[in-house]
Amino acid sequence: MSIIIKSDQEIATMRQAGRMVATVLEVLKSQVRAGMKTEELDVIAAREVKKLGAKPSFKGYHRFPANLCVSVNDEIVHGIPGKRVLHEGDVVSLDFGVIFKGFQGDAALTIGVGNISQEAKQLIEAAEGALKAGIAMARAGARLGDVSAEIQHYVESRGYSVVREYTGHGIGREMHEEPLIPNFGLPGQGPLLKKGMALALEPMVTMGDWRTRLGDDNWVVLTKDGSLSAHFENTIAITDAEPEILTAL
Ligand code: MG
Repeated sequence: MSIIIKSDQEIATMRQAGRMVATVLEVLKSQVRAGMKTEELDVIAAREVKKLGAKPSFKGYHRFPANLCVSVNDEIVHGIPGKRVLHEGDVVSLDFGVIFKGFQGDAALTIGVGNISQEAKQLIEAAEGALKAGIAMARAGARLGDVSAEIQHYVESRGYSVVREYTGHGIGREMHEEPLIPNFGLPGQGPLLKKGMALALEPMVTMGDWRTRLGDDNWVVLTKDGSLSAHFENTIAITDAEPEILTAL
């Protein structure tokens, strides 16, 4: 397998898919509140994506049972929405993807429920900042390791850890294409970035150790030490100039 280069037309379709992902996440973000069950967010995601005329990409993927991943507090990624009730102070990662005209978009964000601790706010800011810093490095002519190293440095210099057992990924007609995009690495290493590559960068950041464990449902990934985590993701395209965020409004 190799990294698939997309045509301008294919990137244009991915831009449409990406905007749909961002639109649904924006609605979800506005609806998160203490007292709701996480499955209510899944219902909203299903309704909104249908309105837009796209398909949710996670549902049925390796038999994942929901439209959306909702991961709370020490849950890092792949949380299945359900009966869990959100409480003031919780930290919630929402990860959503669509398929539109055969192409995928994938993005995630983390928000607090009501008032959250200063520590939690700083963790969320670090994860979001790491994504931005990584994106800024994702230019034609750079190496993938430049992106990975930048994310790692951004996170670790703030005293947090990057999850190592899960990574970002190439994206296109498939949700997961080459290359794997670790959130740690060495500058100057890895594949050369070229115009037309589409990448899903997704730093997963923990307050404590980077090690993870799989939950009882065999889906949700949690921090092994129970520490808080945050997760942001964008699908981007490598261009001749600045990287383009495809999962933007
Ligand atoms: Mg992803």
